[in-house]
Amino acid sequence: MEYSGPTSLYIDGDWVDAESGETIETFDPATEERYATVACADETDVDAAVEAAKSAAARGSEWRTMDPSTRGERLRAMADAIAARKDEISLVESHDNGKTPFEAGMEVQMVVDTFRYYAGWTDKVTGEYNAVPGDRVNFTTREPLGVTGHIVPWNYPFQLAGRSIAPALACGNTAVVKPSSQTPLSALYYGIAAEEAGLPEGVVNVVPGSGSKAGSALASHPDVEHVTFTGSTEIGKRVMADAAENVTGVTLELGGKGPHVVFPDADLDAAAKGVHYGIFMNAGQMCWAGSRLLVHEDVADELVEKIVQRAEATPLGSGIDDDGRMGPVVSEDHMEDVLEYITIGVEEGATVACGGGVDEEKDAGYFVEPTVLTDVTNDMTVAREEIFGPVLSVIEFSDQEEAIELANDSPYGLLAGIWTQGLSRAHQVADALDYGMVSVNEYPVTFPQTPFGGTKQSGHGREQGEEAIREFTQAKNINLNI
Ligand code: NAP
Repeated sequence: MEYSGPTSLYIDGDWVDAESGETIETFDPATEERYATVACADETDVDAAVEAAKSAAARGSEWRTMDPSTRGERLRAMADAIAARKDEISLVESHDNGKTPFEAGMEVQMVVDTFRYYAGWTDKVTGEYNAVPGDRVNFTTREPLGVTGHIVPWNYPFQLAGRSIAPALACGNTAVVKPSSQTPLSALYYGIAAEEAGLPEGVVNVVPGSGSKAGSALASHPDVEHVTFTGSTEIGKRVMADAAENVTGVTLELGGKGPHVVFPDADLDAAAKGVHYGIFMNAGQMCWAGSRLLVHEDVADELVEKIVQRAEATPLGSGIDDDGRMGPVVSEDHMEDVLEYITIGVEEGATVACGGGVDEEKDAGYFVEPTVLTDVTNDMTVAREEIFGPVLSVIEFSDQEEAIELANDSPYGLLAGIWTQGLSRAHQVADALDYGMVSVNEYPVTFPQTPFGGTKQSGHGREQGEEAIREFTQAKNINLNI
């Protein structure tokens, strides 16, 4: 199907070509065919976008002085504009990224919910009265930061952009958004939604371009007051260093190596369903993928058998004109990387319980089979590094203490899952895990209302919920000697 959506940069309320005339070609990972060509921003275009965002965020500007409840109405209108195009955006995301339209639909719906949630926050950002000595009135207000940069990866291109744009706008900031050059299309729909919602020019700007040029220019720009980066730990460190040049604040949402900890008293059918979903959804290309299954030795065989049955029954396909429930990985290079990890796992002693290769029946597309590796130990490469594909590593444990030790023995700390019927055990283990998020008896799960983020090398700062309001505002203390 031909792509008929936006193909230009969105800067200062205008759809424009890149100053250099450069473009990006995108390919459908299910068919390997070219899908779209869009403008490719570089440093010059990023400068123009930041300048527009700076003037839209200035004191006295229409956006800065807008009644907060009116700003909330604009955000609600953006949610409505996105909801009205849900099917269109989902299909674009499927072709651009490879996820099934069902998975893409969930992504778009999460954005609609997120904009509606933050639309309700605009007139609830309050300050504090401080009890200081003497004849003084002392209070703290919370002000917007100004221009915010949003650097987005390819795995959830629409949702991860919306997750930070919505709270940034709710607090009165403006946004410059740089989607991944691998999946630049869906983010452009934020330009359409901003136009349809009547946002002042320059409040939302979208500049698809390469990470090394447009991404780096945004992270190191002196007029950007905050950067939200979602992506790999390696690039996250670089973005943090670039931002440090101007003492720009950062929120970093980085990689993960999520453990499921399954105890013998767990409902194994529910655990099998949750573990399967938590590693094979989006072809395993998720920061919070539950890629390590830590399971008690008494129930390991039974649980693995149930997961393997589900994995082998998962139809691979785009889901667009077939019954595919798991799509391809994003590119040929990425497919090769995932297969290489499986090879390394086997070389280091793992056993392939199912999958392990590509779908040989497909004529085209980067379809990696849902793969379960058993006989894994926590020091193997497949247990330590983020594979970012449909590969589950199974590690057995014999008691609760060992399970906690294994779960925490990771450079990452994003989301951990616990499967048990024991209330005390659930609380004890949740308390002991060094993770930013823990979920008991379901996986993975998050809501616009709840904080999202990780410990250790999984990141810095939190998105979603009230936490994001703090990230996108700064405290100003005012003292009056009366
Ligand atoms: P990536 O390679 O780090 O890229 C992320 C973004 O950064 C892309 O837009 C990329 O642009 C850009 N970029 C690359 N080099 C840059 C530079 N020097 N300066 C500024 N920006 C630069 O990550 P990815 O492969 O797209 O995504 C997968 C990773 O994201 C995984 O590690 C995953 O765990 C993580 N992730 C984390 C979360 C979370 O919430 N914690 C959510 C989703 C994904 P180009 O693509 O155009 O080069």
